[in-house]
Amino acid sequence: MNAFYLPLANQNVKNFNKHALVDLIRFAGRGVARTDIAQELGLTRASVTMIINDLIESGIILETESRSARSGRPAVVLDINPKSGLTAAIDMGATHLSVAVGDFSAHILEEVEQPFRIDDGPEHCLKEADRALRLVLEKSGLQISDLSAVGLAVPGPVISETGMVMAPPIMPGWDRFPIRTTLEKLWKVPVALNNDANLGALGEWVYGAGRGERNLAFIKVGSGIGAGLIIDRQIFGGTTGSAGEIGHLTIDENGPLCTCGSHGCLEAFAGGHAIELQAQKLVESGKRTLLSDLNIKSITVREVAEAARRGDLAAQEILHRSGTFIGIAVAGLINLVNPSVVIIGGGVAEVGDLLTAPIRKIVRERSLRAAEHAVKITTAMLGRRSSLIGAMVQATHIAIHSAIESKPTRNKAAYRADKELAEQSDHEEVILAKDKSNTPHASHLIE
Ligand SMILES: [Zn+2]
Repeated sequence: MNAFYLPLANQNVKNFNKHALVDLIRFAGRGVARTDIAQELGLTRASVTMIINDLIESGIILETESRSARSGRPAVVLDINPKSGLTAAIDMGATHLSVAVGDFSAHILEEVEQPFRIDDGPEHCLKEADRALRLVLEKSGLQISDLSAVGLAVPGPVISETGMVMAPPIMPGWDRFPIRTTLEKLWKVPVALNNDANLGALGEWVYGAGRGERNLAFIKVGSGIGAGLIIDRQIFGGTTGSAGEIGHLTIDENGPLCTCGSHGCLEAFAGGHAIELQAQKLVESGKRTLLSDLNIKSITVREVAEAARRGDLAAQEILHRSGTFIGIAVAGLINLVNPSVVIIGGGVAEVGDLLTAPIRKIVRERSLRAAEHAVKITTAMLGRRSSLIGAMVQATHIAIHSAIESKPTRNKAAYRADKELAEQSDHEEVILAKDKSNTPHASHLIE
């Protein structure tokens, strides 16, 4: 069962069990039975009942029927109430902008996608994002004040405490710009900011190809290449938010110049931008290729993939080489992190087998056997939306946990009396969870 815990700054420690319980329900997929909750959190059924009643009363969770019951009969489970609020998600890529509004189960109500240039700088780009968000809201008959939170994915290393990016290679002008503060001032709703690859990992982990996994890596292959890591069910951002910058692993120190200023990074060999440059060079060389019919200055990865699918050997070779380089880096990552699943996502990953087949081959050849046996390499189940959905998950996270905090906490005496009453009617020992590593204080915080 999944659990994920990202404490908020304003979180009251007394509400720990409530927060843990809500996360357990959120990330379980299809609802959780009451008995499983008691066991997972190491609480008595009486305590669990009390917390659940409180959360149902405040409209955050609800009881529903699970259709996946093993017995065949529908079982009553607890799930997040998707209608308890609305959030928006914004995915800023190097060359695209996606904005969506959705409910608390990340069901998208409306979405827009438009061309965009992150290198236009923060003032221009945030204005664009604002305009796109207002358009999406207008289409759904909503206003910004209807949103509980907004999640934002950016293609650079994010320092979450400050809501800024630090020294982002492909975001000129954005270094330490107060992104979160600016948007919160503009919209007057909480804004959650994170790196796009990290949010891709989160999106796939909660709703996509990484459900239920403990350790996973999400490789985002877009114009650039980045990785998001979930280690022991937590996003791993590193000290300054730049963990997983797999695109800047050196493949060949004498290789082409990269956006980060170094030479021969993976991204400069295998990212979407590199693929397009190689396609241009191919056409310029005068070799026979279907790509010659296209406008040389604007050849896209999609066109290279299309030519490859139609049997163009030179186009196939470009994608094969890109997959091979990504495979070398992924094999190293697998040796380092030992994940159970590696998810290849981002726009370029939509190319499919032409890219993933060489990645799988190289991983088989180069990863240590123990790690290679345990890992599954797959494409993103959410397609282009991994980071967008991840941003929505993070926005919902803030919204739900803030809602728990804003509800007046009952005083300790009343809580204890309730607890004793409940325990008299339900003589049950505290069941300790088998694995409490993710909820370290679950049993003693309600005392
Ligand atoms: Zn680089």
